Amino acid sequence: MLVTMKLHATAEEIEAVCRKIESMGYRAHPIPGSTRTAIGITGNQGPVEAAAIEALPGVGECVPVSKPYKLVGRELKEETTIVDLGDGVRIGGKELAIIAGPCAVEGREQTRAIAEGVAAAGARLFRGGAYKPRTSPYSFQGLEEDGLRILAEVRRDFGLKIVTEAIDVESMDLVERYGDVIQIGARNMQNFSLLKRAGRSRKPVLLKRGISATLDELLMAAEYILSEGNYSVILCERGIRTFADHTRNTLDLSVIPAVQRLSHLPILVDPSHGTGRREKVRPLSRAAIAVGADGLMIEVHNHPERALSDGNQSIEPSDFEELMREIRPIAAVLGRTVAPGSARPV
Ligand code: PEP
Ligand code: MN
Repeated sequence: MLVTMKLHATAEEIEAVCRKIESMGYRAHPIPGSTRTAIGITGNQGPVEAAAIEALPGVGECVPVSKPYKLVGRELKEETTIVDLGDGVRIGGKELAIIAGPCAVEGREQTRAIAEGVAAAGARLFRGGAYKPRTSPYSFQGLEEDGLRILAEVRRDFGLKIVTEAIDVESMDLVERYGDVIQIGARNMQNFSLLKRAGRSRKPVLLKRGISATLDELLMAAEYILSEGNYSVILCERGIRTFADHTRNTLDLSVIPAVQRLSHLPILVDPSHGTGRREKVRPLSRAAIAVGADGLMIEVHNHPERALSDGNQSIEPSDFEELMREIRPIAAVLGRTVAPGSARPV
């Protein structure tokens, strides 16, 4: 069930409706829209007694939500959510969100060199894992808190917002302290306790699609986060497992318009994991922007041949600069913009 408030409903009226919903034993999720506020109701097992709510001042109407997800759907909120990270960096707005950086933070010199390169090319967000979910327990697992400290330095010295992964509930406390956006990886997309913990965080969450997840499963995973009160969620398509063997994964660009039809959450594309091959990253980046993605997440390494993880799909900073040059006119066709590069660290 969702309650749509009238056009000029006051903050007090919205508050009173939320209190009423909570007094009935449910949870209220007020979501402001461009013209009016909608209030999602969760926690009800059966139908909600709409009459008691409709009688309150400022209430337009109560409408049942047809989809299994209540809070991520466009039924609740028509316009796309913009996740505002401050300092003019927004995800889901007119300017595309470009996140770039190494798969893993391997050390200070490596990380700073890459940050300098991607900032110069126009990235406003920096990625890098301090905790790595690896297929093999013998592979590099990440620098943990030392890696997070290096990322904090990158934010300070290059003015980049930090996107970094929490692989479990234990790492979440540190990741949310140091990062600007908490990444939840493909392997964890249905780790429901981690999703709930992320839902109680005050930092935005970047949720990657699981390697075999359907669109509904992706949206339901996001619903877990919103249902706990965190409405700043960004989705990310990163390729799914298919029979194709010319790529590591099959980048499912058709999911972008499908998500956008159903959900108000912004969606990015990660062509690095999506293809697993360096030479395919630029072409698929161009395609992702053309299909209408809200931005990209790209793995960049200054020495891909020496990378401790995902070297095969990492591009060099010069290649990233070229990628940025290529997507600018494509973005313009769609009425989107790409931030200009900064020649030197801020
Ligand atoms: C990553 O972004 O480096 C990563 C591990 O991604 P995914 O969870 O999509 O495999
Ligand atoms: Mn990676």
